[in-house]
Amino acid sequence: MPISRLADDSVLASDGRVLHFSVERFLRDIVLGDCCFICGASPSTVEFNNEHVLPRWLLKKYKLYDIAIKLPNLSSHSYGNYVLPCCVRCNSYMNTQIEVPIQEILAGGVEGVSRHVRTQGPHLLFNWLALLFIKTHLKDKFLRNVRDERAGDSRSIAEAFHDPVALHHVHCVARAFYTEALMDKTAIGSILVLRAKIRDHFSPFDYVDLHIPQSMLIRMDDVCIIAVLNDSCAVVNLFFEDVKRIEGRLSPVQAREVLAHVAYINTHLLERPRFLSEFDELGPQRLLAQVPAQAVLDENDEPPFREFLTRVCGPLFEDAPYYPTMIEHMRQGRMGFLFDRHGKFQFDSMDFKGDENE
Ligand SMILES: [Zn+2]
Repeated sequence: MPISRLADDSVLASDGRVLHFSVERFLRDIVLGDCCFICGASPSTVEFNNEHVLPRWLLKKYKLYDIAIKLPNLSSHSYGNYVLPCCVRCNSYMNTQIEVPIQEILAGGVEGVSRHVRTQGPHLLFNWLALLFIKTHLKDKFLRNVRDERAGDSRSIAEAFHDPVALHHVHCVARAFYTEALMDKTAIGSILVLRAKIRDHFSPFDYVDLHIPQSMLIRMDDVCIIAVLNDSCAVVNLFFEDVKRIEGRLSPVQAREVLAHVAYINTHLLERPRFLSEFDELGPQRLLAQVPAQAVLDENDEPPFREFLTRVCGPLFEDAPYYPTMIEHMRQGRMGFLFDRHGKFQFDSMDFKGDENE
């Protein structure tokens, strides 16, 4: 398809679609502006409606409409009100291209998701995860960082917490269903599809994302998906030996500990991939990365793993009477949930009776 390049280095298709937002245009129109986060249309030119940050089918399935989501500034909103402006056309297209097929894949549980990735590749799942992540962080810009104006801080959460330039690659991936860009394997991050425990005393749903490490967890019934969006699979290579030791189904806190590990590793990569989009007049757009020859961890341990663990796992125990003691143990690096002191997988994590048959 013939393409044209704009002065700001964005790229248009002959049918008018923005195939590629330059970083400059992404910041102006999407991060700071109010254009549709998929096609870039202005609300003054096309009809807009609200897109739920977590898709409606998920809110309905796990009865999340009234459940509070904890934001980076520690305020909370209910998932049902957590929506982002999006044009009607993109909203509906996103539904048919992404949400409907993803919903079908997830209906097959952990086996269904694993089978899909094995036979069809990770592209659709990675696109969906990038959408969840970008929606969460674009939503932040509409929320004030400090709700009480008398505090004198008028920055939005986005301004106070985020590096929007770092979100550019995630935005390119999230729009791939619309731009029809091909994702090279170097553009795809680490994705772990792990088995999760189902128990009456666990919530069947969990979602956590960490914006600087671009790492996320979504747990739904027996499937737990943990992903890093901007590492070109460096993290999964470095974490592979530990993944092999995960011999049973993960409890909610163990799933979160895996997230803490991948976020720690991603934050401490010595060299990072550099992402780019390639265009060919005759072929489709390609998302790819220049990847370091080897994934190597930085010897500088700051911030240490125990800080990631405390931040990610601590909130699960907020209502427990032993919370202060537990947090103190985590902060001091004396507490873990995945493996015991001999490095063996802990089968009875968060179980009252222990696990049989796992
Ligand atoms: Zn749109």
